[in-house]
Amino acid sequence: MSTPPRGKIIVCSAPSGAGKTTLLEHVRQTVPNLVYSISATTRPPRRNERDGADYFFMSVGEFKRRIDAGEFAEWQIVHGSYYGTPRSFVDKTVASGKHLVMDIDVRGKVMFDESYPGAHGILILPPSHEVLEKRLRGRGTDTEETISTRLENARKEIEFAETRGRYEYRIVNDDLEGARKRIVEVVREIIGEGGG
Ligand code: ADP
Ligand code: 5GP
Repeated sequence: MSTPPRGKIIVCSAPSGAGKTTLLEHVRQTVPNLVYSISATTRPPRRNERDGADYFFMSVGEFKRRIDAGEFAEWQIVHGSYYGTPRSFVDKTVASGKHLVMDIDVRGKVMFDESYPGAHGILILPPSHEVLEKRLRGRGTDTEETISTRLENARKEIEFAETRGRYEYRIVNDDLEGARKRIVEVVREIIGEGGG
């Protein structure tokens, strides 16, 4: 009776609007057999988002109860809402030998590394602040107030990532085709399916 080799953990971080959802959707369609972690959050669902599929949406009270119960591998307040990664899901997935892809903000990644130092990090960056602003407005999913908060936070997040973040890979999402290719290449390299 042998246990399977543990799955790899891939953490993706990016300031909001940099294109993480777009690029991870491409990875989802291109690289089979990856598991995507579903985080908990107290922010309200956007249109098209479903509870238990995109996030576990919950009240602040419920979220705090779970913090106290030690249920999160990491948690942070991002753009004024709580976000956290359920620990049990991470442990179960990697123990079964499956590779896990996670979406965690730059500060959460530092906290996550304390429990999972072997996690691999990919940082997705926008080509410029101006482009980021254009994309956030173009997405049309957020209010003006939310967009302003996210833009302000983007500067801080990028600075934090550059100074305190430990990311093995950085992808500037300028040309979409190039960034898609690169993220698939990186993911394959991490899970050991890289090369020709
Ligand atoms: P995030 O998940 O990082 O917040 P999204 O993937 O939702 O960002 O991207 C924000 C917006 O920018 C979306 O409307 C998306 O279609 C667009 N977008 C993403 N990547 C590019 C790119 N390389 N060029 C132009 N538009 C892009
Ligand atoms: P959004 O609300 O746009 O889906 O996500 C906003 C931010 O929250 C993004 O920077 C995203 O990476 C971050 N985020 C999503 N899930 C988690 C999580 O489980 N933990 C942490 N720390 N951040 C998360």
